[in-house]
Amino acid sequence: MKGIRGFKDILPGEVEKWQYVENEARRVFGLFGFLELRIPLLERTELFARSIGEATDIVGKEMYTFPDRDGDSLTLRPEATTSIMRAYLEHGLNVKEPVGKYFFIGPMFRYERPQKGRYRQFHQIDAEILGVQEAQADAEILVMLMRFLGGLALKNLNLQINSLGDPACRGPYRGEIQKFLRSKSEALCEDCRRRLDTNPLRVFDCKREECQAQLEGAPVVLDFLCEDCRRHFEQVKDMLDTLRLPYGVNPRMVRGLDYYTRTAFEVVAGDLGAQNAVCGGGRYDGLAEEIGGPSVPGIGFAIGVERLVMLLPEEKNYSRYPDVFLAALGKDAQRRGFILAQELRDAGVWVEIDYEGKSLKSQMRKADRLKAPCVVILGEEELKKNRAVLRDMASKAQEEVPFEEILRKVKGKNHGSGAKGR
Ligand code: AMP
Repeated sequence: MKGIRGFKDILPGEVEKWQYVENEARRVFGLFGFLELRIPLLERTELFARSIGEATDIVGKEMYTFPDRDGDSLTLRPEATTSIMRAYLEHGLNVKEPVGKYFFIGPMFRYERPQKGRYRQFHQIDAEILGVQEAQADAEILVMLMRFLGGLALKNLNLQINSLGDPACRGPYRGEIQKFLRSKSEALCEDCRRRLDTNPLRVFDCKREECQAQLEGAPVVLDFLCEDCRRHFEQVKDMLDTLRLPYGVNPRMVRGLDYYTRTAFEVVAGDLGAQNAVCGGGRYDGLAEEIGGPSVPGIGFAIGVERLVMLLPEEKNYSRYPDVFLAALGKDAQRRGFILAQELRDAGVWVEIDYEGKSLKSQMRKADRLKAPCVVILGEEELKKNRAVLRDMASKAQEEVPFEEILRKVKGKNHGSGAKGR
Protein backbone atom coordinates (compact mmCIF):
# COMPACT_ATOMS: atom_id res chain seq x y z
CA MET A 1 0.00 0.00 0.00
CA LYS A 2 1.21 3.49 -0.76
CA GLY A 3 0.36 6.94 0.60
CA ILE A 4 -2.07 9.27 -1.16
CA ARG A 5 -0.92 11.40 -4.13
CA GLY A 6 0.01 14.90 -2.98
CA PHE A 7 0.37 13.80 0.67
CA LYS A 8 4.05 13.61 1.67
CA ASP A 9 5.84 11.81 4.46
CA ILE A 10 8.51 13.91 6.11
CA LEU A 11 11.32 11.59 7.16
CA PRO A 12 14.27 11.96 9.53
CA GLY A 13 17.01 13.66 7.54
CA GLU A 14 14.50 16.22 6.28
CA VAL A 15 12.46 16.68 9.43
CA GLU A 16 15.39 18.42 11.17
CA LYS A 17 15.02 21.27 8.69
CA TRP A 18 11.34 21.52 9.60
CA GLN A 19 12.15 21.60 13.30
CA TYR A 20 14.75 24.30 12.72
CA VAL A 21 12.31 26.45 10.74
CA GLU A 22 9.50 25.97 13.27
CA ASN A 23 11.78 26.76 16.22
CA GLU A 24 13.02 29.90 14.50
CA ALA A 25 9.43 31.00 13.78
CA ARG A 26 8.53 30.54 17.46
CA ARG A 27 11.62 32.46 18.52
CA VAL A 28 11.29 35.40 16.12
CA PHE A 29 7.49 35.73 16.44
CA GLY A 30 7.93 35.61 20.21
CA LEU A 31 10.12 38.73 20.02
CA PHE A 32 7.18 40.54 18.44
CA GLY A 33 4.74 39.30 21.09
CA PHE A 34 2.86 36.76 18.98
CA LEU A 35 1.13 33.96 20.91
CA GLU A 36 0.47 30.48 19.59
CA LEU A 37 -3.15 29.59 18.92
CA ARG A 38 -4.19 26.12 17.68
CA ILE A 39 -7.18 25.61 15.43
CA PRO A 40 -8.99 22.40 14.46
CA LEU A 41 -8.47 20.57 11.17
CA LEU A 42 -12.16 20.72 10.32
CA GLU A 43 -14.62 23.59 10.12
CA ARG A 44 -18.11 23.97 8.75
CA THR A 45 -17.84 24.35 4.96
CA GLU A 46 -19.90 27.52 5.08
CA LEU A 47 -17.20 29.33 7.08
CA PHE A 48 -14.64 29.02 4.28
CA ALA A 49 -17.16 29.54 1.47
CA ARG A 50 -18.25 32.86 2.99
CA SER A 51 -14.80 34.20 3.79
CA ILE A 52 -12.53 32.94 0.99
CA GLY A 53 -15.29 33.48 -1.59
CA GLU A 54 -17.37 31.21 -3.84
CA ALA A 55 -15.66 32.46 -7.01
CA THR A 56 -12.13 31.55 -5.87
CA ASP A 57 -10.25 28.44 -7.00
CA ILE A 58 -9.92 27.33 -3.40
CA VAL A 59 -13.65 27.22 -2.68
CA GLY A 60 -14.71 26.42 -6.26
CA LYS A 61 -12.58 23.36 -6.83
CA GLU A 62 -9.91 22.71 -4.22
CA MET A 63 -11.56 22.06 -0.88
CA TYR A 64 -11.74 18.64 0.76
CA THR A 65 -15.42 18.75 1.64
CA PHE A 66 -17.55 15.88 2.88
CA PRO A 67 -20.77 15.31 4.81
CA ASP A 68 -20.36 14.38 8.47
CA ARG A 69 -22.37 11.36 9.70
CA ASP A 70 -25.22 13.63 10.67
CA GLY A 71 -25.24 15.37 7.30
CA ASP A 72 -23.35 18.59 8.20
CA SER A 73 -20.99 19.68 5.45
CA LEU A 74 -17.43 19.84 6.81
CA THR A 75 -14.17 20.94 5.17
CA LEU A 76 -10.52 20.23 5.93
CA ARG A 77 -9.02 23.69 6.46
CA PRO A 78 -7.50 25.09 3.24
CA GLU A 79 -5.97 28.03 5.15
CA ALA A 80 -5.75 29.32 8.72
CA THR A 81 -6.79 32.98 8.82
CA THR A 82 -10.54 32.32 8.72
CA SER A 83 -10.35 29.77 11.55
CA ILE A 84 -8.15 32.03 13.66
CA MET A 85 -10.65 34.87 13.26
CA ARG A 86 -13.52 32.48 14.09
CA ALA A 87 -11.72 31.33 17.25
CA TYR A 88 -10.87 34.90 18.25
CA LEU A 89 -14.52 35.96 17.96
CA GLU A 90 -16.01 32.76 19.39
CA HIS A 91 -13.94 32.99 22.58
CA GLY A 92 -14.37 36.72 22.93
CA LEU A 93 -10.61 37.29 22.83
CA ASN A 94 -11.35 40.74 21.43
CA VAL A 95 -13.28 41.65 24.59
CA LYS A 96 -10.39 40.89 26.95
CA GLU A 97 -7.68 42.40 24.75
CA PRO A 98 -8.74 44.04 21.49
CA VAL A 99 -5.28 43.72 19.93
CA GLY A 100 -4.47 40.06 19.33
CA LYS A 101 -1.23 38.78 17.82
CA TYR A 102 -1.33 35.08 17.03
CA PHE A 103 0.64 32.51 15.12
CA PHE A 104 -0.15 29.00 14.01
CA ILE A 105 1.83 26.19 12.39
CA GLY A 106 0.13 23.22 10.77
CA PRO A 107 -1.09 21.35 7.68
CA MET A 108 -3.59 22.72 5.15
CA PHE A 109 -5.47 20.81 2.48
CA ARG A 110 -6.21 21.76 -1.11
CA TYR A 111 -7.11 19.48 -3.99
CA GLU A 112 -4.58 20.93 -6.45
CA ARG A 113 -2.58 19.16 -9.15
CA PRO A 114 0.51 17.90 -7.30
CA GLN A 115 3.90 19.00 -8.67
CA LYS A 116 7.19 20.29 -7.30
CA GLY A 117 6.31 22.77 -4.55
CA ARG A 118 2.60 22.03 -4.74
CA TYR A 119 0.95 19.35 -2.63
CA ARG A 120 -2.53 18.44 -1.47
CA GLN A 121 -1.47 18.41 2.15
CA PHE A 122 1.01 21.22 2.73
CA HIS A 123 2.06 23.18 5.77
CA GLN A 124 1.82 26.82 6.63
CA ILE A 125 3.33 29.08 9.24
CA ASP A 126 0.73 31.71 9.88
CA ALA A 127 0.82 34.99 11.78
CA GLU A 128 -2.02 37.45 12.27
CA ILE A 129 -2.48 40.83 13.97
CA LEU A 130 -6.15 41.32 14.84
CA GLY A 131 -7.82 44.52 15.99
CA VAL A 132 -5.43 47.09 14.51
CA GLN A 133 -6.33 49.09 11.44
CA GLU A 134 -3.33 51.43 11.47
CA ALA A 135 -0.67 51.07 8.77
CA GLN A 136 1.92 50.44 11.45
CA ALA A 137 0.56 46.90 11.88
CA ASP A 138 1.07 46.28 8.15
CA ALA A 139 4.66 47.49 8.37
CA GLU A 140 5.38 45.56 11.55
CA ILE A 141 4.12 42.22 10.25
CA LEU A 142 6.14 42.70 7.05
CA VAL A 143 9.26 43.47 9.05
CA MET A 144 8.70 40.39 11.20
CA LEU A 145 8.19 38.23 8.11
CA MET A 146 11.32 39.45 6.37
CA ARG A 147 13.43 39.24 9.55
CA PHE A 148 12.33 35.64 9.96
CA LEU A 149 13.04 34.69 6.33
CA GLY A 150 16.32 36.63 6.32
CA GLY A 151 17.41 34.93 9.54
CA LEU A 152 17.11 31.56 7.79
CA ALA A 153 19.71 32.84 5.31
CA LEU A 154 17.34 32.51 2.34
CA LYS A 155 18.58 34.23 -0.78
CA ASN A 156 16.90 35.84 -3.79
CA LEU A 157 13.72 36.77 -1.98
CA ASN A 158 11.50 39.49 -3.28
CA LEU A 159 8.76 41.20 -1.29
CA GLN A 160 5.97 42.48 -3.52
CA ILE A 161 3.19 44.63 -2.19
CA ASN A 162 -0.04 46.03 -3.59
CA SER A 163 -3.23 47.64 -2.34
CA LEU A 164 -6.55 46.06 -3.24
CA GLY A 165 -8.57 48.95 -1.80
CA ASP A 166 -11.81 48.42 0.09
CA PRO A 167 -15.34 47.63 -1.13
CA ALA A 168 -15.91 51.35 -1.76
CA CYS A 169 -13.07 51.74 -4.25
CA ARG A 170 -13.50 48.28 -5.70
CA GLY A 171 -17.06 49.15 -6.86
CA PRO A 172 -16.05 51.61 -9.61
CA TYR A 173 -13.00 49.46 -10.45
CA ARG A 174 -15.18 46.41 -10.93
CA GLY A 175 -17.13 48.19 -13.68
CA GLU A 176 -13.91 49.16 -15.47
CA ILE A 177 -12.27 45.76 -15.37
CA GLN A 178 -15.52 44.13 -16.45
CA LYS A 179 -15.74 46.45 -19.45
CA PHE A 180 -12.11 45.72 -20.33
CA LEU A 181 -12.44 41.94 -20.04
CA ARG A 182 -15.84 41.71 -21.78
CA SER A 183 -14.15 42.81 -24.99
CA LYS A 184 -11.82 39.80 -24.61
CA SER A 185 -14.20 37.25 -23.20
CA GLU A 186 -13.92 34.98 -26.27
CA ALA A 187 -10.28 34.34 -25.40
CA LEU A 188 -10.86 33.66 -21.69
CA CYS A 189 -11.27 30.19 -20.18
CA GLU A 190 -14.71 29.02 -19.09
CA ASP A 191 -13.93 29.72 -15.40
CA CYS A 192 -12.84 33.27 -16.14
CA ARG A 193 -15.93 33.96 -18.26
CA ARG A 194 -17.95 32.99 -15.23
CA ARG A 195 -15.72 35.11 -12.98
CA LEU A 196 -16.36 38.08 -15.26
CA ASP A 197 -19.87 38.30 -13.80
CA THR A 198 -19.30 37.04 -10.26
CA ASN A 199 -15.87 38.48 -9.37
CA PRO A 200 -13.84 39.91 -12.28
CA LEU A 201 -10.78 40.62 -10.10
CA ARG A 202 -10.28 36.85 -9.89
CA VAL A 203 -9.23 36.71 -13.57
CA PHE A 204 -5.83 38.09 -12.45
CA ASP A 205 -5.52 34.99 -10.33
CA CYS A 206 -6.16 32.48 -13.15
CA LYS A 207 -3.28 30.07 -13.68
CA ARG A 208 -3.90 29.68 -17.45
CA GLU A 209 -1.49 31.50 -19.73
CA GLU A 210 -4.17 32.36 -22.31
CA CYS A 211 -6.08 34.29 -19.64
CA GLN A 212 -2.97 36.01 -18.31
CA ALA A 213 -2.17 37.15 -21.86
CA GLN A 214 -5.55 38.93 -22.08
CA LEU A 215 -4.70 41.00 -19.00
CA GLU A 216 -2.05 42.99 -20.85
CA GLY A 217 -2.93 46.66 -20.35
CA ALA A 218 -5.85 45.90 -18.01
CA PRO A 219 -6.80 48.61 -15.49
CA VAL A 220 -5.46 47.87 -11.99
CA VAL A 221 -7.20 48.51 -8.69
CA LEU A 222 -4.23 50.58 -7.44
CA ASP A 223 -5.31 53.36 -9.82
CA PHE A 224 -8.81 53.39 -8.32
CA LEU A 225 -8.03 53.71 -4.62
CA CYS A 226 -10.20 56.05 -2.56
CA GLU A 227 -8.50 58.74 -0.49
CA ASP A 228 -8.37 56.66 2.73
CA CYS A 229 -6.98 53.56 1.03
CA ARG A 230 -4.45 55.61 -0.89
CA ARG A 231 -3.24 57.27 2.33
CA HIS A 232 -3.02 53.91 4.09
CA PHE A 233 -0.88 52.49 1.29
CA GLU A 234 1.38 55.55 1.30
CA GLN A 235 1.85 55.20 5.06
CA VAL A 236 2.77 51.52 4.74
CA LYS A 237 5.34 52.27 2.04
CA ASP A 238 6.69 55.19 4.02
CA MET A 239 7.25 53.03 7.10
CA LEU A 240 8.91 50.29 5.06
CA ASP A 241 11.21 52.93 3.56
CA THR A 242 12.01 54.28 7.02
CA LEU A 243 12.90 50.78 8.17
CA ARG A 244 14.91 50.26 4.96
CA LEU A 245 12.97 47.14 4.09
CA PRO A 246 13.25 46.55 0.34
CA TYR A 247 10.02 45.86 -1.59
CA GLY A 248 8.49 46.28 -5.02
CA VAL A 249 4.95 47.39 -5.86
CA ASN A 250 3.16 44.85 -8.05
CA PRO A 251 -0.19 46.32 -9.12
CA ARG A 252 -1.31 43.04 -10.74
CA MET A 253 -1.04 40.92 -7.63
CA VAL A 254 -4.55 40.21 -6.31
CA ARG A 255 -4.11 37.08 -4.10
CA GLY A 256 -6.34 34.03 -4.38
CA LEU A 257 -8.75 34.77 -1.54
CA ASP A 258 -11.61 37.28 -1.60
CA TYR A 259 -11.34 38.59 1.94
CA TYR A 260 -8.31 40.81 1.35
CA THR A 261 -8.65 44.59 1.57
CA ARG A 262 -6.00 47.27 1.21
CA THR A 263 -2.45 45.92 1.68
CA ALA A 264 -1.73 42.59 -0.03
CA PHE A 265 1.71 41.06 -0.37
CA GLU A 266 3.70 38.09 -1.53
CA VAL A 267 7.26 36.94 -1.11
CA VAL A 268 8.59 35.24 -4.22
CA ALA A 269 11.84 33.32 -4.47
CA GLY A 270 14.00 33.42 -7.58
CA ASP A 271 15.16 29.84 -7.00
CA LEU A 272 11.82 28.03 -6.83
CA GLY A 273 10.74 27.70 -10.48
CA ALA A 274 7.02 27.76 -11.32
CA GLN A 275 5.71 27.60 -7.75
CA ASN A 276 7.76 30.56 -6.61
CA ALA A 277 5.56 32.13 -3.92
CA VAL A 278 6.96 31.37 -0.47
CA CYS A 279 4.51 33.52 1.42
CA GLY A 280 1.27 35.37 0.82
CA GLY A 281 -0.77 37.67 2.98
CA GLY A 282 -2.62 40.89 3.42
CA ARG A 283 -5.14 42.94 5.32
CA TYR A 284 -8.70 41.64 5.78
CA ASP A 285 -10.72 44.36 7.47
CA GLY A 286 -14.07 42.90 6.34
CA LEU A 287 -13.48 39.25 7.25
CA ALA A 288 -14.89 39.32 10.80
CA GLU A 289 -18.20 40.75 9.58
CA GLU A 290 -18.37 38.31 6.68
CA ILE A 291 -18.36 35.42 9.14
CA GLY A 292 -21.03 37.01 11.31
CA GLY A 293 -18.94 38.96 13.83
CA PRO A 294 -18.44 42.62 14.64
CA SER A 295 -16.05 44.78 12.64
CA VAL A 296 -12.49 43.70 13.50
CA PRO A 297 -9.61 44.73 11.25
CA GLY A 298 -6.74 42.31 10.71
CA ILE A 299 -3.62 41.57 8.74
CA GLY A 300 -1.57 38.40 8.40
CA PHE A 301 0.52 36.09 6.30
CA ALA A 302 0.97 32.42 5.51
CA ILE A 303 4.35 30.93 4.64
CA GLY A 304 4.49 27.63 2.76
CA VAL A 305 6.84 25.43 4.80
CA GLU A 306 7.58 22.92 1.99
CA ARG A 307 8.81 25.73 -0.24
CA LEU A 308 10.71 27.37 2.60
CA VAL A 309 12.53 24.13 3.40
CA MET A 310 13.50 23.76 -0.28
CA LEU A 311 15.19 27.16 -0.09
CA LEU A 312 17.29 26.51 3.01
CA PRO A 313 21.01 26.78 2.26
CA GLU A 314 22.51 23.33 1.71
CA GLU A 315 25.83 24.21 3.37
CA LYS A 316 24.26 24.35 6.80
CA ASN A 317 24.00 21.09 8.70
CA TYR A 318 20.56 20.64 10.28
CA SER A 319 21.21 17.11 11.54
CA ARG A 320 21.58 16.14 15.19
CA TYR A 321 23.93 13.49 16.48
CA PRO A 322 24.05 11.41 19.67
CA ASP A 323 26.35 12.61 22.44
CA VAL A 324 27.69 9.13 23.08
CA PHE A 325 27.39 5.53 21.91
CA LEU A 326 27.45 2.89 24.59
CA ALA A 327 29.03 -0.36 23.38
CA ALA A 328 28.48 -3.25 25.81
CA LEU A 329 30.07 -6.69 25.34
CA GLY A 330 28.52 -9.74 26.95
CA LYS A 331 25.31 -10.29 28.91
CA ASP A 332 26.39 -8.74 32.23
CA ALA A 333 27.92 -5.68 30.59
CA GLN A 334 24.77 -5.25 28.52
CA ARG A 335 22.64 -5.27 31.66
CA ARG A 336 24.94 -2.77 33.44
CA GLY A 337 25.21 -0.69 30.26
CA PHE A 338 21.45 -0.52 30.02
CA ILE A 339 21.32 1.02 33.51
CA LEU A 340 24.21 3.37 32.74
CA ALA A 341 22.46 4.53 29.55
CA GLN A 342 19.33 5.46 31.51
CA GLU A 343 21.41 7.31 34.10
CA LEU A 344 23.13 9.34 31.39
CA ARG A 345 19.80 10.07 29.68
CA ASP A 346 18.32 11.19 33.00
CA ALA A 347 21.21 13.66 33.14
CA GLY A 348 20.33 15.05 29.69
CA VAL A 349 22.77 13.10 27.52
CA TRP A 350 21.66 11.54 24.22
CA VAL A 351 22.86 7.92 24.42
CA GLU A 352 22.62 5.37 21.64
CA ILE A 353 23.02 1.65 22.33
CA ASP A 354 23.12 -1.61 20.43
CA TYR A 355 20.19 -3.98 20.98
CA GLU A 356 21.43 -7.12 19.29
CA GLY A 357 24.56 -8.14 21.20
CA LYS A 358 26.77 -7.45 18.18
CA SER A 359 30.60 -7.62 18.14
CA LEU A 360 32.67 -4.62 19.27
CA LYS A 361 33.72 -3.97 15.68
CA SER A 362 30.15 -3.86 14.49
CA GLN A 363 29.09 -1.60 17.39
CA MET A 364 31.96 0.78 16.61
CA ARG A 365 30.84 0.90 12.99
CA LYS A 366 27.36 1.84 14.15
CA ALA A 367 28.76 4.58 16.44
CA ASP A 368 30.65 5.92 13.45
CA ARG A 369 27.55 5.84 11.23
CA LEU A 370 25.58 7.76 13.86
CA LYS A 371 28.45 10.29 14.14
CA ALA A 372 28.71 9.90 17.92
CA PRO A 373 31.76 11.89 19.10
CA CYS A 374 32.67 9.28 21.73
CA VAL A 375 31.98 5.69 22.71
CA VAL A 376 31.76 4.19 26.18
CA ILE A 377 33.03 0.59 25.90
CA LEU A 378 31.88 -1.73 28.62
CA GLY A 379 33.46 -5.22 28.69
CA GLU A 380 33.46 -7.96 31.36
CA GLU A 381 36.93 -6.90 32.59
CA GLU A 382 36.01 -3.22 32.99
CA LEU A 383 32.76 -4.18 34.65
CA LYS A 384 34.58 -5.99 37.46
CA LYS A 385 36.48 -2.74 38.21
CA ASN A 386 33.40 -0.52 37.93
CA ARG A 387 35.09 1.18 35.07
CA ALA A 388 34.56 1.67 31.34
CA VAL A 389 36.74 2.65 28.42
CA LEU A 390 35.97 6.02 26.90
CA ARG A 391 37.05 6.38 23.29
CA ASP A 392 37.24 9.69 21.51
CA MET A 393 36.16 8.96 17.94
CA ALA A 394 38.05 11.83 16.33
CA SER A 395 41.46 11.39 18.03
CA LYS A 396 40.93 7.64 18.65
CA ALA A 397 42.41 8.20 22.17
CA GLN A 398 41.11 5.82 24.85
CA GLU A 399 41.12 6.05 28.63
CA GLU A 400 39.70 4.00 31.47
CA VAL A 401 37.15 5.94 33.47
CA PRO A 402 35.39 5.04 36.75
CA PHE A 403 31.60 4.80 36.35
CA GLU A 404 30.94 7.87 38.46
CA GLU A 405 33.11 9.99 36.15
CA ILE A 406 31.54 8.94 32.87
CA LEU A 407 28.84 11.60 32.90
CA ARG A 408 31.31 14.43 33.51
CA LYS A 409 33.72 13.14 30.85
CA VAL A 410 31.00 12.65 28.23
CA LYS A 411 29.59 16.10 28.87
CA GLY A 412 33.14 17.48 28.53
CA LYS A 413 33.47 15.89 25.09
CA ASN A 414 30.25 17.65 24.10
CA HIS A 415 31.61 21.01 25.19
CA GLY A 416 29.78 20.69 28.46
CA SER A 417 26.44 21.16 26.75
CA GLY A 418 25.22 17.60 27.20
CA ALA A 419 22.87 17.64 24.26
CA LYS A 420 24.04 19.46 21.12
CA GLY A 421 21.77 20.99 18.56
CA ARG A 422 18.65 20.87 20.69
P1 AMP B 1 -2.17 31.17 0.02
O1 AMP B 1 -2.91 30.78 1.26
O2 AMP B 1 -2.74 30.57 -1.23
O3 AMP B 1 -1.93 32.62 -0.07
O4 AMP B 1 -0.74 30.50 0.15
C1 AMP B 1 0.25 30.97 1.02
C2 AMP B 1 1.52 30.15 0.80
O5 AMP B 1 1.26 28.78 1.08
C3 AMP B 1 2.00 30.16 -0.64
O6 AMP B 1 2.82 31.27 -0.88
C4 AMP B 1 2.77 28.87 -0.72
O7 AMP B 1 4.07 29.04 -0.22
C5 AMP B 1 2.00 27.96 0.19
N1 AMP B 1 1.09 27.08 -0.57
C6 AMP B 1 -0.16 27.36 -1.00
N2 AMP B 1 -0.70 26.29 -1.62
C7 AMP B 1 0.22 25.31 -1.59
C8 AMP B 1 0.28 23.96 -2.05
N3 AMP B 1 -0.75 23.39 -2.66
N4 AMP B 1 1.41 23.24 -1.82
C9 AMP B 1 2.46 23.80 -1.17
N5 AMP B 1 2.47 25.06 -0.70
C10 AMP B 1 1.37 25.81 -0.90
